[in-house]
Amino acid sequence: MRPLMPDRYRQVSDHESIERIKARKLELGRRLVLLGHHYQRQEIVELSDFRGDSLGLSRDAAKQKDAEFIVFCGVHFMAESAEILSQPQQIVQLPDLTAGCPMADMADIFQVESAWREIDKVCGGENVTPITYVNSSAELKAFCGRNDGVVCTSSNAGSVFDWGFEKTDKLFFFPDEHLGRNTANKKGIQKDKVIVWNPEEEMGGNTRKQIRDADVILWKGYCHVHTFFKLVHVLEIREKYPEAIIIVHPECVEEVVDMADADGSTGFIVQFVQEAKSGSTIVIGTEINLVNRLAREHPDKKIFELARSLCPNMYKINLRNLLWTLDNIGEINIVTVPKQIKVEAKVALERMLEII
Ligand code: SF4
Repeated sequence: MRPLMPDRYRQVSDHESIERIKARKLELGRRLVLLGHHYQRQEIVELSDFRGDSLGLSRDAAKQKDAEFIVFCGVHFMAESAEILSQPQQIVQLPDLTAGCPMADMADIFQVESAWREIDKVCGGENVTPITYVNSSAELKAFCGRNDGVVCTSSNAGSVFDWGFEKTDKLFFFPDEHLGRNTANKKGIQKDKVIVWNPEEEMGGNTRKQIRDADVILWKGYCHVHTFFKLVHVLEIREKYPEAIIIVHPECVEEVVDMADADGSTGFIVQFVQEAKSGSTIVIGTEINLVNRLAREHPDKKIFELARSLCPNMYKINLRNLLWTLDNIGEINIVTVPKQIKVEAKVALERMLEII
C-alpha cells in the first residue's frame, strides 16, 4: 500500500518547506540529484539540480552514475524511464506516485499486443517498426525493445521516423496520434498513407487494404493539455496581435500546428524564446507553467499563452510532498520496474538516446 503523506507535512508553510528542502539537499550532497521537468511549478524548478524536457532529463538521469538517489519531479513514466536507465544501486523516487499521464494510459500492453497480432496477420510484423512515444508505460517500451523498435520524444521524433523507415516500410506509432501525424506531415508522407488505430474497434477500425497500404499507423491517443488549443485560439491571436510569433507543441492537433509559425518540443520552445529578438511578441501553445516561467525570465519580450492549459498531474508535485520524500530518502515513493521489462525497455530507450 502506498504510504500517505502525514498531516504534519500539510501544515508546513512554503517558506519553511523551501528552507528544509535546501537543508536536506545540503545534507545529502552528491548522494542526491533532483530533476525538474519544465512543466513543474516555479518553486520546484528553482530547487531542481537539472531542469529540462523528457529527452534532456533522460540524458541527465543516465549521466548521474554517482548519485544514490534520483528524485524526479515530473510524472510517472519519466521516473520510470530514469529507473530503467539508472545504475542497479540507484533508487528513483517520485514525490507523488499518483502523478501519471492520461495519454500514457491510453495504450496498455494488452491492447498494443493485440493490435500487433492483427497487423502481423495483414502485413507481417517484420515489415513494421513499432515506435512508442516516451509518454508510455515501461511495458510498451519493453515491447518496442523486443520487437526491433524504439522510443522517441518530441525532440527526436523526425529522426526516429527516418530510423524506422530505413529498416521497414511501415511504422506503428503509439500512443499519441497528434505527435505521430505532425511528424508524418513534416516528413512529407501522403495523408492517405497515415491511418488511425482505434483499439476499441476490430482491426483498429480499418480495412485490411488500408492497413496494407499505410506507411504509418497511429494509435488513437492524445494529450488533453495540448489538444485544448484550438484553431480559433490561433485565429484570435492573429487578429489581435498580427506581429506575434505563434509557437506550439507537436502534441497539438494538426490544424493548430499547421497554422502556427513554429512547433517543437518543450526544449525547442525554450531555445526559440531565448534566441528570439528583444521586443518580440511570442505566443505559446503549451503547458502554462512553462509559458509563465518563460515570460518571467524574458522581460524584454512579450510572452503569453495561446490559451491557459495546465497539466494537473505535473501539478501534483509540490513543496510538501517533495520535502516528505527527501525526509524519507530511499524509503518511500520509490519507482520500480520488473527486471525483464527493465532489460527490454532499456534497449529501446538507449536507441532513443542515440538518435538525435
Ligand atoms: S502535459 Fe500531456 S503528455 Fe505531458 S504529462 Fe501532462 S497529460 Fe501527459
